[in-house]
Amino acid sequence: MRVSRRPQPFTATTLHRVSFVLLLYSSLLQPADACAAAAEDTEEGVAGTGTSSDVALILCRACGHELAVGADIHSVPSRLSLSGRNDTLVGGRRVHVQLFENPHGHKFEVITFRRADVDVHWPADKHFSWFPGFSWTVATCPRCHTHLGWAFQPSVWPDIVSKTTFLESKETFLALITHRLLREDFASSLLMTPKSFTS
Ligand SMILES: [Zn+2]
Repeated sequence: MRVSRRPQPFTATTLHRVSFVLLLYSSLLQPADACAAAAEDTEEGVAGTGTSSDVALILCRACGHELAVGADIHSVPSRLSLSGRNDTLVGGRRVHVQLFENPHGHKFEVITFRRADVDVHWPADKHFSWFPGFSWTVATCPRCHTHLGWAFQPSVWPDIVSKTTFLESKETFLALITHRLLREDFASSLLMTPKSFTS
């Protein structure tokens, strides 16, 4: 920055100049960021067939453990959800995201899966189920033990069943908390993002 010949204190004008440069810098960054994201979408859109989202890995956000693939996502709408919205995975798979509230007033946004590599903690509980006709158990990450969501099984079943019974049934499903999951393609795009964009 050019310095005035006359000595002058660090004035408000100088501050304005600095903030203008900063504003300009950040406004230059934003479109570039948006373009990069758009380009990425386009590439995925061209390369992506109907199957790209089916094989997209879904990871534990806390430790990166591979929990499921896109094809494991299985919509189970519940009339007890506070709200529901549709989201789209890369490759076009539609995902139904539902918001629920537990008896303590905590809200959770979940995606339902037919199967996932999680630890299920029986006995199952029939009370306060978000899915009428199903009892629930807590589901955790098998590697880091983070609480990832809940497993559901028909409420007419015994409270304790074997893992094999649970896995082999087509009536069981899991509701996993969206913000505790990470898509692998999203994780790799995070790793490629310069630090200046993320700070
Ligand atoms: Zn984990």
